[in-house]
Amino acid sequence: MGRTSKDKRDVYYRLAKENGWRARSAFKLLQLDKEFQLFQGVTRAVDLCAAPGSWSQVLSQKIGGQGSGHVVAVDLQAMAPLPGVVQIQGDITQLSTAKEIIQHFKGCPADLVVCDGAPDVTGLHDVDEYMQAQLLLAALNIATHVLKPGGCFVAKIFRGRDVTLLYSQLQVFFSSVLCAKPRSSRNSSIEAFAVCQGYDPPEGFIPDLSKPLLDHSYDPDFNQLDGPTRIIVPFVTCGDLSSYDSDRSYPLDMEDNEMSCSP
Ligand code: SAM
Repeated sequence: MGRTSKDKRDVYYRLAKENGWRARSAFKLLQLDKEFQLFQGVTRAVDLCAAPGSWSQVLSQKIGGQGSGHVVAVDLQAMAPLPGVVQIQGDITQLSTAKEIIQHFKGCPADLVVCDGAPDVTGLHDVDEYMQAQLLLAALNIATHVLKPGGCFVAKIFRGRDVTLLYSQLQVFFSSVLCAKPRSSRNSSIEAFAVCQGYDPPEGFIPDLSKPLLDHSYDPDFNQLDGPTRIIVPFVTCGDLSSYDSDRSYPLDMEDNEMSCSP
């Protein structure tokens, strides 16, 4: 995740610096929360693919402010410590990492699982989309082990050719699935966020770490999504339309800083 000159000019990058967020991504979660009230009633959360930690900062403030919150943050990379956040360094697609996360929520499930995971982009669209889908499915699999009924799952998604397959898999587990594009997510980026609310697995479903959710034998109907069976989930933009455009450049001496949001 090298920093480019475009990042330095970017208004959300600068606002993140000014307000003490570790990454501009903080605004994506804040804007998603504003639209979907993600943090309402949440005391226990998992932040998958969390480094450098701006989503964990948001979570620890929004749900851990009274000292009662519990946030588990997981990433391949080490992160500087954050108050109220338990860190696990590991690969979320690995069984050992999944088990370690699940251990934290034994007997006391999570209300919210978020995943902002992004694989290293190769530039080959099909490969990148496939890798992203694998990360999302690994996150979903973990979510099925730790989420309480009615819980919420938010994950970065690439709106590529096979996104319908992912939506249909998410709809198996959640009563509401939407695709959201926060204002702070660049228009030029294929990224969006699947916002899945109301965790409600099928009757008799037993979470199973040994069976990847993308296994084609899971339900053969998922491979035949054509015509009327093609699933289209609602697409929602969020973040005030009058707020900063993430693809524009702004002068350095902005006086009226509406988006200012201190951690
Ligand atoms: N939400 C973070 C924040 O606000 O600071 C930014 C996350 S960054 C866009 C994507 C992260 O995904 C990287 O830190 C990367 O190490 C992590 N990642 C990618 N693949 C992973 C995997 N298999 N397991 C754990 N973390 C992974």
